[in-house]
Amino acid sequence: MKILYVASEVAPFAKTGGLADVVGALPKAMKKGGHDARIIMPLYKCVESGGFTIKKARKGVEISLGGSVQKGMLRQTALQDIPVYLLENREFYSRSFLYGTPEGDYPDNARRFGFFCHAVVDLLKRLDFRPDIIHCNDWQTALIPALIRYGHAGDPFFMKTAIVYTIHNLAYQGIFERSALADLGIDDSYFTVDRMEYYDKVNLMKGGILASDIVNTVSDTYCREIQSEEMGCGLEGVLRQRGRDLYGILNGIDYEEWDPAIDPALFRNYSVSARTGKAANKKGLQKLLGLEQKQDVPLIAMITRLSAQKGFDLVEKLMPKFAEENLQLVVLGAGDEKYMKMLTEFKDRGAANISINLSFDQVLARRIYAGSDMFLMPSHYEPCGLGQLIAFRYGSVPIVRKTGGLADTVFDAREGVREPNGFSFDEYTADSCWNAISRALESFADRKSWDRIVRSGMHSENSWENSAGEYEGLYDKALKKL
Ligand code: ADP
Repeated sequence: MKILYVASEVAPFAKTGGLADVVGALPKAMKKGGHDARIIMPLYKCVESGGFTIKKARKGVEISLGGSVQKGMLRQTALQDIPVYLLENREFYSRSFLYGTPEGDYPDNARRFGFFCHAVVDLLKRLDFRPDIIHCNDWQTALIPALIRYGHAGDPFFMKTAIVYTIHNLAYQGIFERSALADLGIDDSYFTVDRMEYYDKVNLMKGGILASDIVNTVSDTYCREIQSEEMGCGLEGVLRQRGRDLYGILNGIDYEEWDPAIDPALFRNYSVSARTGKAANKKGLQKLLGLEQKQDVPLIAMITRLSAQKGFDLVEKLMPKFAEENLQLVVLGAGDEKYMKMLTEFKDRGAANISINLSFDQVLARRIYAGSDMFLMPSHYEPCGLGQLIAFRYGSVPIVRKTGGLADTVFDAREGVREPNGFSFDEYTADSCWNAISRALESFADRKSWDRIVRSGMHSENSWENSAGEYEGLYDKALKKL
């Protein structure tokens, strides 16, 4: 199969969260399976300055948006042997952030990603690559299915191309005022209830869900959850309407990228069969962050976007408890100003056992996965979650709220499973969260039972291999719909 992956972020080129990890790994797994996988994304500033080999412009594109013509150039780099097309438009993409500053989204995001979607559709015809599958991801690429199915209806070029749309996070839908239609380069014919109209606004994700051949999300549980009123973010009706074409496929992680045995960021490499090096990582991390260097004090980590989704209202309530217990807490996060402020205030109070790091730092993240004993993800909702999967691999035991993909990957002894690999809680309250943390702390004190949990996590199989096979099946289903 020829597959084009379209995404607004792809690791290692540009990353704010799990979407980048997924689109940086799934194409590699498909390529290994013998498919011709390619990727297209915007050429951001961080890609230009990231030390990647970028080939000169090959093709140009001109798109008319809201009365003015926007120009783009197509450049190219590679992810191993996978071609990665980069859409250049310095005004739109050469900025310090991908989507917005900590104060909020860039006000011209409709134009920025509208342009990207039009350019992808336009350039495809001139690329000498007619994909069998166009795999779009999240709201930033959701206009593509609509442009192809409505704008290019009957176009022979796309007759044999199926479109798969993956929802990585339903909370970010790309909702704009009706006046943004011009910025998005589309007319009123798209503004209908069976296309993109949503309470008198434009909803790009709704459009993507309705216009694609197959829709999926990143875990079975989240797939069920988003069809309920409680968790459907207003799109539950649309999702139920597509119920027969809606699937859940659990994300994997790239086992070459995330491997404590070879990770160059670590203080010492280790593996499940030779785990002694993990202690050196804990010591190194404690030293680096100015924490007391003690092996017997449990070190709990959080590496996360700072957003309401990630459970920071619970963390806020628990902060005094963290400060007084015999444990260490390391937080690495970047995102919403509100939570930056809350954590800064806490940092200023100066609890000696807590280290707050407000940045997006991929090297420090790796050191924290390796140096921590426990990995806390008290998410309000979690489509899949990659943090807990990386934590497993690095021998850090996840403590999670049982929701979405966390429920599908973390198994607590209280559920009667034979090989528990973590701790979980159901109710979204600080008390239940603390209850799970306390159970983890108790277990940590019993070396034998703790070792079993660590090993069971390190042995859990979360590579892309299984999921890639499921995506093959999904692509087959999409092609059958043509
Ligand atoms: P989401 O996509 O909702 O942000 P995931 O758990 O799916 O959450 O993926 C998060 C990814 O981003 C992981 O690879 C995690 O290590 C990384 N990450 C999150 N915050 C930071 C940070 N502040 N610094 C470095 N990496 C981070």
